[in-house]
Amino acid sequence: MKQGWVPKEGQMNFAIPEKMQVILEMTKEFMQKEVIPLEPQFVGRKFRDLLPEIKRRQDMVKKMELWGPQIPRELGGMGLGLVDHALMSEVLGSSPLGHLIFGCQAPDAGNIEILEKYGTPDQRERYLVPLARGEIRSCFSMCEPELAGSNPTELSTTAVRDGDQWVVNGHKWFSSSADGAAFAIVMAVTDPEAHVYQRASMILVPTDTPGFDLIRNISVMGHAGDDYASHGEIMYRNCRVPGENLLGPQGHGFIIAQERLGPGRIHHCMRWIGICNRSFDLMCRRVMQRKVGGGKLLAEKQIMQEWIAECRAEILAARMLVLYAAWKIENEGAYAAREEISMIKFFVAPIMLKVVDRAIQVHGALGVSDDTILSFFYRQERAARIYDGPDEIHKIVLARRVLRDHGGQPK
Ligand SMILES: Cc1cc2nc3c(=O)[nH]c(=O)nc-3n(C[C@H](O)[C@H](O)[C@H](O)COP(=O)(O)OP(=O)(O)OC[C@H]3O[C@@H](n4cnc5c(N)ncnc54)[C@H](O)[C@@H]3O)c2cc1C
Repeated sequence: MKQGWVPKEGQMNFAIPEKMQVILEMTKEFMQKEVIPLEPQFVGRKFRDLLPEIKRRQDMVKKMELWGPQIPRELGGMGLGLVDHALMSEVLGSSPLGHLIFGCQAPDAGNIEILEKYGTPDQRERYLVPLARGEIRSCFSMCEPELAGSNPTELSTTAVRDGDQWVVNGHKWFSSSADGAAFAIVMAVTDPEAHVYQRASMILVPTDTPGFDLIRNISVMGHAGDDYASHGEIMYRNCRVPGENLLGPQGHGFIIAQERLGPGRIHHCMRWIGICNRSFDLMCRRVMQRKVGGGKLLAEKQIMQEWIAECRAEILAARMLVLYAAWKIENEGAYAAREEISMIKFFVAPIMLKVVDRAIQVHGALGVSDDTILSFFYRQERAARIYDGPDEIHKIVLARRVLRDHGGQPK
């Protein structure tokens, strides 16, 4: 049966096109054979030590023509649509290394997207082309420790024009993967007197610019990490970059940041579904092996069966909601899908955390050890309810829209 994703009139179609099924099967096999076996080294060693192994696998992925699912073909990627990329993201999400090895990891994926849309020919040549090929990495530097990151209209970092240069000054943190990045896309106030949504711009700052100071990799849940697997705190002190390093129109920083979030949310949420699937699989295997009191398998206990049934239903509900949001963005645009984009963020993350938590509980002490990937998921993914806008903000935004449709004017 061969069908696309667009439902015909009066029909709903959940079938995955045959070509995509083949791609997903190849990806799953590669994940099993080449990516998941790397995890013990990933959890136990410095990330930098793993780079040669990662590079070797990235080259294999390129040879298989599975590199950069979301990257346009002319830049060397697969050029998949959002729904197909969502399906890939689900498979890749089963391991914390999947997205990096296939060239679609945050924050580079979002940076590629905005460079593709707004980059000048020079910016494309210098930043976009090597980034899309995986030759360099980047970071996105928006949030500041002193101000609420949940409201990105509030920023104290400035970029002031001085002759033919921008001079950037500010304090940023949680710039993920800044360690080892070749450049940062920095959101800074360029027009302090403008309307609140038009004050900031995006500026490209190479990390070897004098005044770019990566102070530390922030310790998160006991792990500071390094290289790609880190979150940087950065001081920009009189960081001078050429005037042509402005990305997109001046004053469009907020708009570009919002645009970056739409498709990015699909990637994240489907990655989370991948984490759910992996954790659920581990949970089911464990209950089928582990004998408890009286030699009975955990699987025979009603409470375990309840958890399994609930998790199965919740994962499927979350998956369908994300795929629907992806379908809507692809077919009707991000504006039409804005409710779904808010919804998936606060709907999927708690389900993922619940599934991971239950899988850990089922494993007992083994669950909190680093002998399975579950403890890594638990530590690392708690942040899912915070980054990309905390859950509470998305609920408020969605509720206001719904109430407006009902004639309300909620503030
Ligand atoms: C792992 C991780 C990776 C990150 N990566 C990046 C990155 O690469 N680049 C980058 O720039 N930033 C990044 N961030 C920062 C992230 O975007 C911010 O943490 C996020 O926007 C929330 O901002 P905040 O931490 O300042 O929390 P605050 O804005 O201080 O909010 C704290 C809490 O207050 C509540 N809250 C906030 N506003 C409201 C409201 N209006 N109504 C009700 N409750 C509210 C929410 O519960 C929220 O969690 C990352 C963060 C994490 C944890």
